[in-house]
Amino acid sequence: MAKPKIELLNKSKKPEKMSFLISDVPIEYINSLRRYIMKEVPVMAIEDVEIINNSSIIYNEVLAHRLGLVVLSTDLKTYNMKNECKCKGKGCAGCEVKMSLKEKEPGYVYASQIKSKDPKIKPVYGKTPIAKLKKGQKIELVATAVLGKGKEHSKWNPGLVYYNQMVSIDIKNKDKISKEKAEYMVKHFPEVFSLKNNKIELLKKEWNDSILYCDFANDPNIEIKRLDKYVFTVEPFGQLKAGEMIEKALDIFDSHLDEFEKKINK
Ligand SMILES: [Zn+2]
Repeated sequence: MAKPKIELLNKSKKPEKMSFLISDVPIEYINSLRRYIMKEVPVMAIEDVEIINNSSIIYNEVLAHRLGLVVLSTDLKTYNMKNECKCKGKGCAGCEVKMSLKEKEPGYVYASQIKSKDPKIKPVYGKTPIAKLKKGQKIELVATAVLGKGKEHSKWNPGLVYYNQMVSIDIKNKDKISKEKAEYMVKHFPEVFSLKNNKIELLKKEWNDSILYCDFANDPNIEIKRLDKYVFTVEPFGQLKAGEMIEKALDIFDSHLDEFEKKINK
């Protein structure tokens, strides 16, 4: 296997997103990285809610569920997974954060009104609506946020991770491509094909959309080949930065390989 090549394609701040081109890596490796980021990287989310008072129209269960989905900023350096903490899962300052919410003013209750004991762990999107109160209604509760993994519940999912396989495109015989077909190609893939004097023109020799493959793989006049190149994109939900997600996923993958190695060397 050739040495993998990685090239950063873009990194945007708002919304935070990172894409890079990975070449000479089998698709199984790319998919493992995707799954490790989405399913193994821990993030904070509210897990337990103690409702002291709730006279709003929202049932306690629904209120607790909504709180669980509030995106919380995460600090992986300070906090441990509960089952890996020195308190042995009892709950301590190293594995959980207490939060509270107390509101009686009529109108929307937003995530920004949740008070956290740790200023580093707090709702990322303050405008997330949690409930709506009428005059005389109130909500009072205490919540506990813990680290968890996306494989257990999607509230602990750190973001979206996906990849597109690159394909190479070559037009074998321009004259044999009908006008209708050419128009279809330009309409659906304007970045790749264009029309010049009613003839199809190729704008890009490689493209990151394997739908092209599905559309033209059986066309004798167009040659489409899947390449060992992938555009890999990480879109964080907000708990962690894209770079932190990738770094943590690789650390965990590494530790799993170490465990595996220990087991076979026993
Ligand atoms: Zn603990």
